[in-house]
Amino acid sequence: MQKLAAGNWKMNGTAAALAEVKALIAAHPAPGCEMLLCPPATLLGQMADLAAGTALRVGGQDCHTKTAGAHTGDISAAMLADAGASHVILGHSERRADHGETDALVRAKTEAAWAAGLIAVVCVGETEAERDAGRTLDVVGTQLAGSVPEGASAENTVIAYEPVWAIGTGRTPTLDEIADVHAFMRRELTARFGETARGMRLLYGGSVKPSNATEIFAVGDVDGALVGGASLKAADFGAIVTAL
Ligand code: PEP
Repeated sequence: MQKLAAGNWKMNGTAAALAEVKALIAAHPAPGCEMLLCPPATLLGQMADLAAGTALRVGGQDCHTKTAGAHTGDISAAMLADAGASHVILGHSERRADHGETDALVRAKTEAAWAAGLIAVVCVGETEAERDAGRTLDVVGTQLAGSVPEGASAENTVIAYEPVWAIGTGRTPTLDEIADVHAFMRRELTARFGETARGMRLLYGGSVKPSNATEIFAVGDVDGALVGGASLKAADFGAIVTAL
């Protein structure tokens, strides 16, 4: 399967930041992996225009469950697709924490994303307290079961394992810990969805940077990365793309 380097810009970036996108595209005209950036919605259309005809794909960071309607401030999956998105991140731990998103909501959003033709990047991951309590696999298993709808396939879904305590902290699990969770996810997804789950990309996310990308990508069942901070600069994200 082709690996995926996905960048999540979160609430960062104004039009000036598009210079980084131009630099990324120029430096990686034919990367050895898929390359995806998910900017704030305000930049999606402009970034999609820059990415047209290149190896870069663009995605949203969230979507509503409905296609349209009286939902001030929200964005539908159809709108993301219309703006040029191919993917949408769903259930990121910051949305689960800041907006109280539940597994059921993430599941409904995933179905909405598929209906609009988008690939869902569904995020799961334990908190530090959950890991310390030895509950990592329980938590990840429950989130996978609740957040990923029936009908998930290698074509419509990517899973991102992002330990909450590793996001933006500079800390990462050991390579063995990453391997354990990814092998567990592959088993769970294969048990539920069958053969297609063998080709489903399982990304690791949480403080991935150029200096640790190579060793993380060598871990079994790690099919790419979801990158926050290090996706904002073309040089850093490009180095991660090269490591894949
Ligand atoms: C993220 O938010 O998805 C993330 C992994 O952030 P960072 O790479 O900055 O830890």
